[in-house]
Amino acid sequence: MNNTEFYDRLGVSKSASQDEIKKAYRKLSKQYHPDINKEAGAEDKYKDIQEAYETLGDEQKRASYDQFGAAGANGGFGGGGGFGGFEGFSGGGGFGGFDDIFSSFFGGGGGRSNPTAPRQGADLQYRINLKFEEAIFGVEKEISYQREQECYTCNGSGAKPGTQPITCSKCGGRGQVQVARDTPLGRVMTTATCDVCHGTGKEIKEKCPTCHGTGHEKQAHKVKVKVPAGVETGQQMRMAGGGDAGVNSGPYGDLYVIFNVAASDKFERDGSEIYYNMPLQFVQAALGDEIEVPTVHGNVKLKIPAGTQTGQTFRLRGKGAPKLHGSSNGDQQVIVNLITPKKLNDAQKEALLAFAKASGQSVSAQKSEGFFDKWKR
Ligand SMILES: [Zn+2]
Ligand SMILES: [Zn+2]
Repeated sequence: MNNTEFYDRLGVSKSASQDEIKKAYRKLSKQYHPDINKEAGAEDKYKDIQEAYETLGDEQKRASYDQFGAAGANGGFGGGGGFGGFEGFSGGGGFGGFDDIFSSFFGGGGGRSNPTAPRQGADLQYRINLKFEEAIFGVEKEISYQREQECYTCNGSGAKPGTQPITCSKCGGRGQVQVARDTPLGRVMTTATCDVCHGTGKEIKEKCPTCHGTGHEKQAHKVKVKVPAGVETGQQMRMAGGGDAGVNSGPYGDLYVIFNVAASDKFERDGSEIYYNMPLQFVQAALGDEIEVPTVHGNVKLKIPAGTQTGQTFRLRGKGAPKLHGSSNGDQQVIVNLITPKKLNDAQKEALLAFAKASGQSVSAQKSEGFFDKWKR
């Protein structure tokens, strides 16, 4: 079971202290608060952070999560959390006692009033790798992943074709049964999921040969993802209905596509701004020049004024990455990096000494014969 998801969302390790978790949560919730952060996906990210903290910020829920994953901490199926494929766990049969484990942590089967009601399937995550340029200009990609789908053979009923599921003989279709339990305080009655129908309220006498009665089948699912222009690493996109099949004919969960953008060997990017380090000969910088600068949109001419200094920055308007929710682009900033020549021939040396002389500078090291020349001789 995947139960590191919540830790990943807060960017902390599984061994993080409560203090570290609180700190990470405060920082991230500020960063992604919808009132502050207007970028696409920020609101979803904010909700994910809230959800993760609701569990990890509570020692008891955290312990349960570590052991059982999102479903254990939330106590519900598919309701927004539960990336861990809990539906598969339940649908696989033989785990009717899960609610019992759960209630021992939280003192009741809270939040599951009617197990036979339709429930949305679990949400899934898919990490998609993008090249630097793909993230800037957007791209359409087909992805393929495994998910629980309604079984084709039985159309999700779980019964052998030609037969129908019948009302469960043990729970009368309610999906729950009363169980007596001995505790140190005496005998108490608790509600548990029916172990015959696993909460569906229906009993299948002749199981479908394809799905063995679950009504679901793990299958490869292909979907086209339209990556919008301007996405960044860590941002995510919700694809409604891309998750696992629902329970009791409930709707499919959602798929969250998370972007991972490769670095460029030329450019640095921060949001819609792109940075480029431009090597420049000191003569060009001193005299001024017109140069060609690469941008993600192609080469652009840039006038370098005479007397340009190293570290000086020039702005190429609109040559950055697109802003996610706007029609405009950011800028490219060109940072000048002056090059001092490493090797000089005699003519160059002479010219430089003449330059120094004309400038009234004395260059003592160059006036006399160098140490290396003496040694060579
Ligand atoms: Zn039953
Ligand atoms: Zn089937």
